[in-house]
Amino acid sequence: MTNIPDSYDPDRIESNWQDEWQDSDVYEFDPSDSDTQYVIDTPPPYPSGNLHLGHGLGWSYIDFSARFHRLQGDAVLFPQGWDCHGLPTEVKVEEVNDIHRTDVSNEEFRDLCVEWTNARIEEMKQTMRELGFSQDWSAEYRTMDPEYWGQTQESFVEMADDDMVYRDEHPVNWCPRCETAIADAEVENVDRSGTLYYVTFEGVGNDDIEIATTRPELLAACVGMAVDPDDERFADRVGDTFEVPLFGQEVELVADDDVDPEFGTGAVMICTFGDKQDVDWWAEYDFDLRPVFTEDGHLNENAGEFEGLSIDDAKDEIADALDDEGVLVDSEPTEQSVGACWRCDTPIEILSKEQWFVEVDQDLILEKADDVEWIPEHMHDRLVDWTESMEWDWVISRQRVFATPIPAWECRDCGYWHIASAAECPVDPNEESPAVGECPECGSGATPEESRGAGGEAAETNWRGETDVMDTWMDSSITPLHISGWPQDIDLDDFEPVDLRPQGHDIIRTWAFYTLLRTGALTDEKPWDDILVNGMVFGPDGNKMSKSRGNVVEPDEAIEEYSADAVRQALALGGRPGSDVQFQWKEVKSASRFLTKLWNIVKFAGGHFDEDTPDIADPAYRDADRWILSELTRVADEVEAEMEAYRFDAALRRLREFAWEDLADDYVELVKGRLYNGRPGERAAAEKTLYTAVTSVVRMLSVFSPHVTEEIWQHLPGTEGSVHNAAWPDPDYLDEDAEVAGRHIAETASEVRAWKSESGMPLNEDLDRVELYFEPGQNGKLDTYDLSETVNAPIKLVEGRPDVELVPVDVDGDESEIGPEFRSEAGAVLQGIEAADPAEIQAQIHSGDTVTVEAAGESYDLDADWLSVDEEYRAESGEEVTVLEASFGTILIYE
Ligand SMILES: [Zn+2]
Ligand SMILES: [Zn+2]
Repeated sequence: MTNIPDSYDPDRIESNWQDEWQDSDVYEFDPSDSDTQYVIDTPPPYPSGNLHLGHGLGWSYIDFSARFHRLQGDAVLFPQGWDCHGLPTEVKVEEVNDIHRTDVSNEEFRDLCVEWTNARIEEMKQTMRELGFSQDWSAEYRTMDPEYWGQTQESFVEMADDDMVYRDEHPVNWCPRCETAIADAEVENVDRSGTLYYVTFEGVGNDDIEIATTRPELLAACVGMAVDPDDERFADRVGDTFEVPLFGQEVELVADDDVDPEFGTGAVMICTFGDKQDVDWWAEYDFDLRPVFTEDGHLNENAGEFEGLSIDDAKDEIADALDDEGVLVDSEPTEQSVGACWRCDTPIEILSKEQWFVEVDQDLILEKADDVEWIPEHMHDRLVDWTESMEWDWVISRQRVFATPIPAWECRDCGYWHIASAAECPVDPNEESPAVGECPECGSGATPEESRGAGGEAAETNWRGETDVMDTWMDSSITPLHISGWPQDIDLDDFEPVDLRPQGHDIIRTWAFYTLLRTGALTDEKPWDDILVNGMVFGPDGNKMSKSRGNVVEPDEAIEEYSADAVRQALALGGRPGSDVQFQWKEVKSASRFLTKLWNIVKFAGGHFDEDTPDIADPAYRDADRWILSELTRVADEVEAEMEAYRFDAALRRLREFAWEDLADDYVELVKGRLYNGRPGERAAAEKTLYTAVTSVVRMLSVFSPHVTEEIWQHLPGTEGSVHNAAWPDPDYLDEDAEVAGRHIAETASEVRAWKSESGMPLNEDLDRVELYFEPGQNGKLDTYDLSETVNAPIKLVEGRPDVELVPVDVDGDESEIGPEFRSEAGAVLQGIEAADPAEIQAQIHSGDTVTVEAAGESYDLDADWLSVDEEYRAESGEEVTVLEASFGTILIYE
């Protein structure tokens, strides 16, 4: 007997096991544990403090894989990082402290960011814990820790050594609100309404021309004009010169295939810069550079009397001025798509800035991406499309504070840029001078001793530390290297792809892309073997979760209502990985019911176990045992294959089906008689079978519902340690004959029981006997022991079809017809019907519309429709019998 509590109490079980695991090494990665490893490149989330259900889905997938591979005997590394740096934290810290970042020193500001971030991480860890995720917390990392950002710097240094990092003046995407450069991946296209202005440019020694633009505020930056070379309207005008209204600079008309002749008048102005097309034309035709915007989104001195206006104000004022001048021909509303900052939605501008860039080697990225297994496969296309659309190198410098410092210094004398050596990292170039000492270019400056000795004050030397910092994707794009132990344990040359990268589809253009780029560039390897992309979680109403819709479900809310073990199952069953998942309370509820059922199966089975059960040797298995063990063998193989293919939904569905239908509804019902009344050897076989099935199900299910399975495991005899360190079940009982026999037994038992219950009979009512007739071709050999116990009847097996006959046993007359027809004689007619031979009446019904009945010496003719004949089955012996159809043939029940 096991001492499993009567009722399933998830609250107690879950918090208890979360505490236990916290203090144990169950999830610790120890490569010496196994010849095979399974290393997961877990996403380091941005520490917002809120681990939402979308995270819940992504991390559930990771946890399923981690737990499955532990059971498979792999040494599993499931680390957890935090992608701490970045603008959102700076904005939050400014908000909560009511300061601007320039109100305090950079150091102080960083400290506030670190403090805020640590608190948010604790909140998210709490939710991770409550969902039962199995990270190895000894492998936790935070990108804001010097140990980590030193590695980011080192990877920067390595790439600079290979000329894949450079500093250059180049147009970059710029957010005028955040006042920083941003990468292409941080630009989001938004649709908005604008105005299309038609403006006349006066010809210089030639005719005027009319152009159309949505951005009159860029007129001061106009450096050229362009038309389509095939546009008849401008056939003779290429090379003509025009004067830009209000600002007076002269510009020339060029012909270029990239002009859309359908837009506006067919002639467009080229400015430095309105968009990326302008940048291309500017480079191709060697136009002047006339920047007109400041970093904070105002017009500069090139705008003359409009200097100082914000970009939006300038648009209106310049349009008005054009109108006053009489050169604004027309204006009309238009819909346009503009690039906006991912963080603040402000339309981005393109400014030419000296920045740090990382080379984008499209071929290398595509080659590595091609080597990776993408799950689902079509996510690969998204990466390819994005990579092929990249026009510019990756601008990695940001004009912010809370980020990895760029380890570089500029010589104040000659402008030479010196990059730190790997050994100097981590280094803050504004706190320390470079080890190199004198400028390698011009020889000016301090010796290393002088520069580093005097408190490291950068100002005492000729070196000016770089104040720009790195894009946070520089931090997170080296996670596979970090978790593999670079640079302490391995060199870049030793790097081998890790096993799994799980991530959301919303960060394919960023995290997946940058990781492929960086790992490829640094190691010439692909970063991972497999990438598993998860979808989003929609609200119970099928819409994207949002506060304004009121359809947000928080993980803790769902856990409190049911249990973490049930929530995890609902997430697994939401769909195949990659698809978006609709959160459904009914799935959580049904998972919760399933877990209660599981508890009850174990409770029942455990009542028949003792400490000797695991060691029962050479059990005398019966067909029912052989059948469920063969099914179990199949299920273990199938679930394993589904798990390997990341089909968590299919794996769990199969497992639940087996546990609930085959094991609980069929097998347990079949062997109850044997367990309670069987002889010791017969009982032992059922006990051993149940033990094998239950311990296997519990281990497989531990992947999805780790708490309840751990609790059960501890109560089962013959188990040691945590279920999460056990081995994946490997039953070897395939027996096709037993499966056929077992299915026939289970089907018969369930048909007879259903019939008893429909007939209002107690389920344990004794029957005279039950006969099973097998159609030709059906295997009619089976072991009747358990079936007989289950249906409370002797069982007879017969090949062929039963010889049964449907015989008429009773005739009823319809009084509502016979009454009015025969009035005072109606009673006699009804008696006559009752007294007649049912077979003879049935014969008359079959031969015509009229039936003649004898009553009190008279003959009465009745309409055949007024009579109904009851029939019953009779066996050859004449005994009354119930006939049930079965998949293998016929079941006869004799009461
Ligand atoms: Zn912004
Ligand atoms: Zn110098």
